[in-house]
Amino acid sequence: MSEGPGKTVYILGAGASSGSRLIPKKDYRLDELSGAVPVNARVPLTHEFFDGSEIPYGELRDYLLKNFGEKEWHTRSGQRGVMEEFVKKWHERSRQNAEFSDADIELVFTRIETELFRSPRKDARLERARYWITERIVRRLRQACEGNYSLDYMKLCQLLKPGDVIVTFNWDDLIEKALDWRSQEWYHESIVAVSQHPAWTGTRDGARVLRLDNFQKGPFPLKHALLLKLHGSVTWFACPTTDCPEHNQVYMIQKLSRSKDPVTGQEVSGDQVPEPYYEDEGLLSLYCNTCGKQMVRVIVPPITFKPYEDYPAVRVSWWLAYRALQHADRIVAIGYSFRESDAYSEWLLASAVRNRPPEKEPPLIKLVCPSNPPLMRVKDIVRDWSEVSAIKKPFSDWVDDQFEHRQVENDATDDNG
Ligand SMILES: [Zn+2]
Repeated sequence: MSEGPGKTVYILGAGASSGSRLIPKKDYRLDELSGAVPVNARVPLTHEFFDGSEIPYGELRDYLLKNFGEKEWHTRSGQRGVMEEFVKKWHERSRQNAEFSDADIELVFTRIETELFRSPRKDARLERARYWITERIVRRLRQACEGNYSLDYMKLCQLLKPGDVIVTFNWDDLIEKALDWRSQEWYHESIVAVSQHPAWTGTRDGARVLRLDNFQKGPFPLKHALLLKLHGSVTWFACPTTDCPEHNQVYMIQKLSRSKDPVTGQEVSGDQVPEPYYEDEGLLSLYCNTCGKQMVRVIVPPITFKPYEDYPAVRVSWWLAYRALQHADRIVAIGYSFRESDAYSEWLLASAVRNRPPEKEPPLIKLVCPSNPPLMRVKDIVRDWSEVSAIKKPFSDWVDDQFEHRQVENDATDDNG
C-alpha cells in the first residue's frame, strides 16, 4: 500500500470529517495515537445537520417562507426567484410531517447564495438569511468539534510529505487542528500549512486575529505541504466591501480558551486553545478597520456560477487547487461524493487532469469510501486522462493501514541507519 515517490493531493469531502473518530484534545505523542479512545461525538452530514442539536432550524424555514413564499416575490433583476419554489416545497413537506423541519443544509445555503448572486443589489432579507445560516453552521460544528481532535486527520497529517496538498470542501477546523498538532509533534521546516503561517495582527476581545495574506502563488511543485479550503472555514472572516483594500484578505478569528483536562474536566492553566467564534460571543460586532463595514463569514456552499466572486481568498484557493491537481502524481479522494450539482469541483478535476504539463504522466486517482464509491461518476469526469480505482473502506480503516505501513517503513529506515 506504499504511496511511493511523487506528489499526492488529498481531497477531503464531508464523509472524511463525518467518518472521523474524534478524540479529546491533548498533547499526544505519536505512539499514543493507537491507544486513543474516541469520544461519543461526530461531525454531521449536510442532510442531518441540525438533527438532535437543539438548534431551531425551523426558524429559518419560517423566515424564508414569510419573505419569499409569496407569489409576487421576484428578484430585483425581474427574474423569478429560485427561492420561491424551494421554500414552498420545504413548507409543504413540513406540513405533511409536523416533525420535519429540516432540509439539506447545503441545498438551502446554495439557494441563498445563488439568489444573492442574482440580485444586482444585495437584498437585506437574503443577507439576513445568510447570516442566520452561517452562524448556525458554525455553532453546530462547534458542538461536534470543540475540545476534540480528529484521530484520522492526525494520522493523515503524518503521511504528508513536502509538496503534498490537502484540498478540503469541509467547513470544520479539524484538519487545521491536526496540522497544528503535527507541527508540535514533529516539526519539519519544509512542511507547513497556509493556515499556520498567517500574519498576526494582535488580539481583540480575547480573540486571536490572524491575517492570511501570504497565499503561495507557486511555482509548483511546492517545497512544503499546503492546506486549501475551497469552501472557506468556520474561523475565516472577510470585509464584504468589494472596493475596500481589506477585501482580498482573510482574517482567521479564533476564541482562545483554556484547555480542559479530558479526565477531570478541569481547566489546565497556561494552555490557550484556539476555537472558532460564533455570534453569541459578540464576534459580529467586528468591523473592518479600513472601511467600517461589518465583517462576514467566509464559508460558502457549492455553487454553479462563476466561482466565488465575493470571496477572493476562496477564489485563490480554487486556483491553487487547480495547479496542485495539474502537478499531482496521485489524487486520493476521501469521503467525497462528487455530487452532480457541484459543477465547479467537476470542472476543477476534469480540467486539471486534462491540462497537465506535457512531461507529467497521468495521475492515479483513488477513491476512499466505505460504500458505493462514485467510481463511474469520476471515470465519467476524467474520461481517458486518468486511471481511477476505488478503495471500499471506511476512512479510519484506510488511514490506519497507511499509518501502520508508514511506521514499519520508518522502523526499517532506523535499522539501516
Ligand atoms: Zn473594509
